[in-house]
Formats: sequence, structure tokens, C-alpha cells
Amino acid sequence: MVDRQGRGSSDRMRLARRVREEIRTVECSGGPPRYPRPMTILPTRGGARLYRPYEPDVGGGWDAVVIGSGMGGMCCAAALSRFGRRVLLLEQHYVPGGYTHMFARRGFHWDVGVHALGEMGEGELPRRMLDWLTDGSVRMVPLGDPYDRFLYPDGFEIDFPSTKQAFRAVLAERFPEQAENIAAYFRCVGKGARGAHIYFLLKSLPRWMDVAGSRVASWLGRDWWGTTTEQVLDEVGIEGRLRNVLSAQWGYFGSVPRASSFAMQALVHCHFGNGAYFPQGGSKSLAEGLLAPVLDAGGDVRTKAPVERILIEGGRAVGVRMADGSEVRADWVISAAGARNTVDRLLPAPERDAPWAGRVRSIGDSPSYLCLNLGFEGDIAAAGASPANLWLMSNWDLDQSEWNVEDPASIPHILYVSFPSLKDPDHDPGPTRRHTGECVTFIPWEAVRRWENTDIRTREEGYEAFKRDITERLLACLRERLPGVMDLLVHHELSTPLTAEYFVHASRGAIYGLEATPERFTCRDLRPRTPIPRLLMTGVDSASIGVISAMASGMLTASVLEKRAYTKMV
Ligand SMILES: Cc1cc2nc3c(=O)[nH]c(=O)nc-3n(C[C@H](O)[C@H](O)[C@H](O)COP(=O)(O)OP(=O)(O)OC[C@H]3O[C@@H](n4cnc5c(N)ncnc54)[C@H](O)[C@@H]3O)c2cc1C
Repeated sequence: MVDRQGRGSSDRMRLARRVREEIRTVECSGGPPRYPRPMTILPTRGGARLYRPYEPDVGGGWDAVVIGSGMGGMCCAAALSRFGRRVLLLEQHYVPGGYTHMFARRGFHWDVGVHALGEMGEGELPRRMLDWLTDGSVRMVPLGDPYDRFLYPDGFEIDFPSTKQAFRAVLAERFPEQAENIAAYFRCVGKGARGAHIYFLLKSLPRWMDVAGSRVASWLGRDWWGTTTEQVLDEVGIEGRLRNVLSAQWGYFGSVPRASSFAMQALVHCHFGNGAYFPQGGSKSLAEGLLAPVLDAGGDVRTKAPVERILIEGGRAVGVRMADGSEVRADWVISAAGARNTVDRLLPAPERDAPWAGRVRSIGDSPSYLCLNLGFEGDIAAAGASPANLWLMSNWDLDQSEWNVEDPASIPHILYVSFPSLKDPDHDPGPTRRHTGECVTFIPWEAVRRWENTDIRTREEGYEAFKRDITERLLACLRERLPGVMDLLVHHELSTPLTAEYFVHASRGAIYGLEATPERFTCRDLRPRTPIPRLLMTGVDSASIGVISAMASGMLTASVLEKRAYTKMV
């Protein structure tokens, strides 16, 4: 039998063996460890994994089956479980978590998609939601002050402090001549963010209520989702470098001001209004906190469980068919696999061609991304690294969203550098002071498209040469900008958009799901309820971008089945 990657059974066995070896190396079970014993990267409780590989023995009678164990899927499953529902969570990867999973090499470990989480201070609503979902088991550590540092050309640097008052004070000090415009800008931010909360609640209601509610909302105020960030910057008269500074965090949602929805930009300002946080123990602690309630309520979490099709009978969703041909039946089917995967891969033929699926399909993807995973030995803090994320900008061009890698003379316009081991108090650097870093940038999908359907283990030399070239260029930039830290580098490994596509089925290796444009946020089909009865969606595409938005999306979707979930969102 040959799978969708064109692998035969012996190939699959070899891959499975490699994966098992990798996991053994990570856990360092048996024999003297070759590297300092790292904490495990796999979600466990009391030493036991919180998931098992899929076998067609999962039975039936499920209240809900959730496809995909990213933050959206895990939170939706956890919320339903906390109200006593039995949920089966199916994940195609060999480890749950989606973009919140961790991976390890040579004793180093990295958090794929978690660097900075906002609204995690005591008493903030998202924090209360997370505490409720995880029974308070996930501890959040502040990144401190500043949490983000922006380094532009010409030596211009600006730090983002961890309170909104301090941020406004920094702006007033650096741009005194634009004080009034800054105040006007933040009035728009306040309105945009307030409207956003109503927008999300409306999304969970039946479509006609959403449409009616949105009409009322647009009579009462401006549609900030349908307005671009650039429009707002123009209208309030923001000029010069301040335009870059106010929209500097566009990398957290992937669309430049010309293309991004202003409400998304406003939400990011508010999201980090009290600074940024990191989960203690790394991002896998999210899965640990969220999967435990699923098991405790009689649910199950299965990995290596690729869902091939959503089963629709009599016009309603009744379950899923797995890639191995087995079927699982459930009262509700919840796709947390991404909106594009849902309409392109999971819906059966007639539904796939429905107008709503076409409208979802018409929304573009967020940028494809590269990540250079870095391993250091030595005192990286003394060499200049800190828990703050670094944004290394090579120009002031606010319209450039991707690094044109095809031009050999080009350098990345933006490099996001994070040092997760300095953020996590549980990190044990060991005697050689081992630390990790991640360096992320955006590239066009076209740069890797030619290898799209090739086998991950036998990709041609051209792909390896591409990776070597990109790696060298990234390392050269990093050595120039962070010479002291880079002197301590002992390991590096590049992941490309194909890596994300393979491991988490991210369409075109997109970093944040669908793009953060007005078209996306005004699309009425990106919501928990689909037109197909008993089929729901969750995850970032049905709400907005980021880990905490995925959590909120999971809660919103759960509230469709279980109205009591609303009480946890106010
Ligand atoms: C490099 C990087 C850095 C980031 N940094 C931050 C950050 O600092 N702060 C922040 O808030 N956000 C950050 N994000 C974004 C954030 O991680 C994601 O937006 C969020 O985790 C997405 O959650 P999700 O549940 O919507 O989707 P995903 O995490 O993509 O989960 C979807 C899951 O569905 C599974 N799946 C797909 N198809 C199938 C199928 N057919 N059968 C079974 N399973 C399937 C996938 O394997 C995957 O596990 C970052 C992302 C990246 C990539």
C-alpha cells in the first residue's frame, strides 16, 4: 500500500523506526545519555503519555470527534470534557499539540509555535479561561521588560515595555511631535478591540443572528475588520518611522499594514497590553493541561490518526473516515484541522463544491515561513541574549512581507529571534550551559513549491542545496547582528514551509493559517458553525490569529454544543 506521500510500507516502517529512535533519544531512556538529560518534550502525566497511536478499536458513541490537536482542537475538546462530554481527539502527527508541539535534536528542544503569549496576567479573561480548561495546571512566566525589542537599520532601536502606559510613554518620548496623532491612533485601537469581542461572540451564534448582529454593530460604529491598518495610519496622520513602530508587530499575524485588517492590529496591541508570557516547562505544558481533562471525562487522544474524510449522511455530519479506511461515528464532528484543509481535503465531493466552501477557499494563506533552530553552549545571557524577542529589521519598507530568497544578493527584511531556554525557568542548561534559539522569517511558497510532492526523506540534492544556501545566509545575518551570541552556536537546523506542511499539514507551510486581511475577517463562512448540520470548525481560522485566539476559538465552538461554556467567556 502506498500513502499520500507516495511511501511504501517498508519506507513507512523505516520512518516509524526513525521517529521511535528520535523519541528515545529525547527521553534518554536506558543507557548512559549521550547528551544532558533534557526534560521530556512529550505531553505526559505522572510519567505516562496522554495519548496513544490510533487503532481502529476506538469504539463509537462519542459525543464529539475533533480532527486535529492544535490549540483550537485541544481547547474545544477540553471545554466539552469539562462539561462531561466524551470526546475523541484525532491527530495525524505522532505527537499532539499542532503548532504548540515541541521537538528535540541532540539534546536541544524547541517550541515550534509559541514564543510570546499575551493576556496571561492574573485575572485577565484569557488567563481565567486557560485556568478553567487546565485546572490551573499551566503556569505562565512573564518575559519581563521589555518583551519585544525592535532593531532597525541606522542604529534605531525601540523596546516594547510590558504595560500599555509605559508603551505610550515611550512613544511620547520618541515621537513628541506626533503626540496628538498617537492619541488618535490609540482611540481607534480601543474601538477596534472592543468591537472585536462582540464580533467573536456573534460568530458562535446561528448565521442569521451573526448577520443581523453585524448589521446592527456596523450602524453603531465603524467596521474595523474591514478597514486596513494602513488606512487608519493615514487617517490619523501617522508619519515617518512611527508608522513602522506602531505596526511593528505585524509579524505576529503575518500581514503588512497595507493588507492587514486593523482590528487584528488593534487586538495585538491589546493582547500585549500587559506584556508577554511563556508557559513554564515549554509549550507542551499546554497539551499536558488540556489533554488530561479529556481523558478524565472518558475521552481519548489518538495520534498517527490522519482523518481522510468527514462522513455526511442524510445531509448531516455523522463521523469520520480514517486514512486506513476505518470509520468513527460521533454526534458532532469538529474540524480543528484548519479551514482550508476542511474544505479542500476533508469534505466529501458534493459539499466540497458548495458556495460556502468556495468562499473559504478564496481566502489566501498567511505567509510561508522558515525557522532556523539554534543550539548554543555557553552563557548566552552574558553574550547579549535575553527572554525578550528580537525583531531584526534590515530596511524600513513597510510593504515587504516576504524575503525574496531567489535573489542571491537579498537579505531577510525581518528576522524574529527568540531564546526559549531563557524564558523557561524549568530549563536545565546542564554543565555545558546548553541553550536554544529560534529565528523565523517569511518566504514565498514558490521558493519551495518544486519539492512540494516529494518524499520528506529522499528529497533531491537540490532541496538540500537550497537549505544549505538559506542556512548560510541566515547565519551570516545573525553573526553580523548578534556576534557574541552566535560565537556560542554549536547546532543549527532549518525548517522550511515543507516541514510545516508535513508535520502539521499547514497549507503551503503557512505560519498562521489564513491571511489576516479584511477579506478573511469579513468572510461570514469562517465561523464555528458550518452550513452542514453537526459539523463545526475551530482553531485560528474560525476566530483570529495566535495561540490564545485558538483557545478562544475552541471555547466558542464548544459553546455551540454546550451553552454553559459562554459563562467562561465573560
Ligand atoms: C514559528 C511560529 C511561531 C509562532 N509564534 C507564536 C507566538 O509567539 N504567539 C502566538 O500566540 N502564536 C504564535 N504562533 C501561532 C500559533 O502557534 C498558531 O496560530 C496556533 O497554535 C494554531 O492553532 P490551531 O489549533 O488553529 O492550528 P494548528 O496548531 O495548526 O493545529 C491543526 C492540527 O490539525 C492537524 N491535522 C490537520 N489535518 C489533519 C487530519 N486530516 N487528520 C488529523 N489531524 C489533522 C495538524 O496536524 C495539527 O496538529 C506561531 C506559529 C509559528 C508557526
